[in-house]
Amino acid sequence: KTMRARKKRDSGTADKATYDWSSEEEEPDGSARPIQVLVVKDDHTFELDEAALSRILLAEEVQNREVVAISVAGAFRKGKSFLMDFMLRYMYSQATEEWLGEAEEPLTGFSWRGGSERETTGIQIWSEVFLVDKPDGRKPYSLYMHTLDQVYNISQNVQEDDLQHLQLFTEYGRLAMEETFLKPFQSMIFLVRDWSFPYEFGYGQEGGMKFLEKRLKISENQHEELQNVRKHIHSCFTNISCFLMPHPGLKVATNPNFDGRLKEIDREFINNLQVLVPWLLSPRNLDVKEINGSNITCRGLLEYFKAYIKIYQGEELPHPKSMLQATAEANNLAAVAAARDLYNKKMEQVCGGDRPFLAPAELQARQSDIREEALQVFRGVKKMGGEEFSRRYLLQLEGEVDEAFVQYIKHNDSKNIFHAARTPATLFVVIFS
Ligand code: GDP
Ligand code: MG
Repeated sequence: KTMRARKKRDSGTADKATYDWSSEEEEPDGSARPIQVLVVKDDHTFELDEAALSRILLAEEVQNREVVAISVAGAFRKGKSFLMDFMLRYMYSQATEEWLGEAEEPLTGFSWRGGSERETTGIQIWSEVFLVDKPDGRKPYSLYMHTLDQVYNISQNVQEDDLQHLQLFTEYGRLAMEETFLKPFQSMIFLVRDWSFPYEFGYGQEGGMKFLEKRLKISENQHEELQNVRKHIHSCFTNISCFLMPHPGLKVATNPNFDGRLKEIDREFINNLQVLVPWLLSPRNLDVKEINGSNITCRGLLEYFKAYIKIYQGEELPHPKSMLQATAEANNLAAVAAARDLYNKKMEQVCGGDRPFLAPAELQARQSDIREEALQVFRGVKKMGGEEFSRRYLLQLEGEVDEAFVQYIKHNDSKNIFHAARTPATLFVVIFS
């Protein structure tokens, strides 16, 4: 059982006073930790630890909250874990000004280390989902973080290669748009590390944007495919940005005993870290992630996870068509789950364990309203794949609901002492007083 540790912030800076942060999955000894939920095996197949993922995303407090999912992706040894640990510091310090910590404090969280040897690769998630409440009228959300090791190599510069790998996503986006006319992803940030030409483009976001514009500019003599990637990137992401990070210094890059303390990191890097992390994570800057135009919850995120994993099973990059298919499937399954949940919750209120026996006719009537309400929930969720595709899932939902109703009827009947007393084989002495 997870502990709920709601941390109220004391008064202080404006940011501090405005938001109420808390966190889940925090053990008494503070041992929130990274959990490997997806392992890439040597033969390039994937294995998903669905139980671990479910435990975290389906925790009572978070499952129905809209979620901001932060995915830090990149090749091995590109500093994903290192960056993530600073992001964790920011979350745990609840966005206070002093989030960066003490000069001599070792960096903890995701394990990170130098060397060229590969560790387990795949997806590591942080076991704690943060709850962020926004009292300024906007919705509260949960914030979930993972790192994703990319099997292909992202170079130090945004080069053609990287753009080609993005093609898959843009192609997917194009297909998705045909279906829904909405941008399938929200934000994409290129983080360029070890940027060594600050005199050309300055560190940070502004320099990054100029740099990216230049990179993404479409010119006549480019290969048509690359031209298309550039065009489509813009149609896929509502926001595209870029941030140029300086080199963290030689101790970070080469000293095997470096433990992450600020003291040994170049000042320039720290200064930019202090801009980058709040820019990424400040509640003011975060909007709940949209997939297919409707906000998703942790539960929905789990369905997406499962669907996407399925198509990544092969060695080949997935075909955009199959990604679309997987998304449509996930949309529908998430809608089924939400509808089924509502049904069970409402039925529990009507005829659950602690409710008295209901006359069968009344149970029927109440059920039929709740059933209709649940089907409405399903229909109300925006889904890819179209009507025809969705019908299958509607049928599945109806089947599940009807099956559940049979159980509710049985349960209700068992509460009827008269009914039980009439059963010939049982001798019941019921004494009323
Ligand atoms: P991951 O495999 O992507 O998670 O990479 P890690 O976070 O484990 O970092 C790998 C190595 O790169 C460690 O030795 C870090 O100290 C170092 N490192 C972290 N950030 C940077 C950076 O921005 N530039 C350079 N050159 N090294 C970095
Ligand atoms: Mg790592």
